[in-house]
Amino acid sequence: MEKENYLGVDVCKTDMEGVLDEIDEIVRERRPSFIVAINPEKIMKAIKDEKLKNLLNSAAIQIADGVGVVIASKLKGGKIKSRVTGIDLMQNICKRSAEKGYRVFLLGAKPGVAERAAEILRERYKGINIVGIRDGYFKDENELLGYIEDKNPDVMFVAMGSPAQELFITRNMDRLKIPVSMGVGGSYDVICGNIPRAPKWMCSMGLEWLFRLIKEPWRYKRMMVLPLFFVKVLFNKDKS
Ligand code: UDP
Repeated sequence: MEKENYLGVDVCKTDMEGVLDEIDEIVRERRPSFIVAINPEKIMKAIKDEKLKNLLNSAAIQIADGVGVVIASKLKGGKIKSRVTGIDLMQNICKRSAEKGYRVFLLGAKPGVAERAAEILRERYKGINIVGIRDGYFKDENELLGYIEDKNPDVMFVAMGSPAQELFITRNMDRLKIPVSMGVGGSYDVICGNIPRAPKWMCSMGLEWLFRLIKEPWRYKRMMVLPLFFVKVLFNKDKS
């Protein structure tokens, strides 16, 4: 996949359709891969943490989840025109899975949340084959891995927050051999309505961050990195 690079972190140029086509290809080839959502906050962390940077760059697909990444691309004359958000991609993968018969595993979030999300997904994407569900507060990782192996999924969503979910995926990729794994953060909570999603007009204006800030004001600390991110991108000599 064609990628741009911001402060050392890769981001795919591809739009939603392109990402979904690549996912079909990965499932067809059964090539264990993972998808990671990139936002300025993660990039700023990765600048200070080489291991995290390598982890993000080792993903097959890095989606431009944050509007800040799209703005960075504009600032540097890049080609990323719109966001591919984690929650939208997850739902599109579910739709594709229902159409193609992919086996889907939901891992993560508090007990009961993934089950409710599964019910909603089954309602929305008729025929989706959700083969297993486990919460993200397990004690025995080995037992969990055995359970997942048994279910033999094509796609696994992991909702445990970042970078815990990415670390779980990469740590166990060789053993699980799942074609597509994706860290989805709080997406099950969003699907269940535990965390409200911004109205469409705010999303289309790139203001989802403002909505989240109003709803979860403690996030302001995480957003303080944004101005510095843009300054760094602007003054970084590397071409995107
Ligand atoms: N979570 C989990 N196991 C843990 C810690 C967190 O499953 O040990 C879940 C938590 O219940 C929530 C999600 O991970 O559903 C974290 O969502 P958050 O919005 O913090 O993720 P972000 O995308 O912001 O990293």
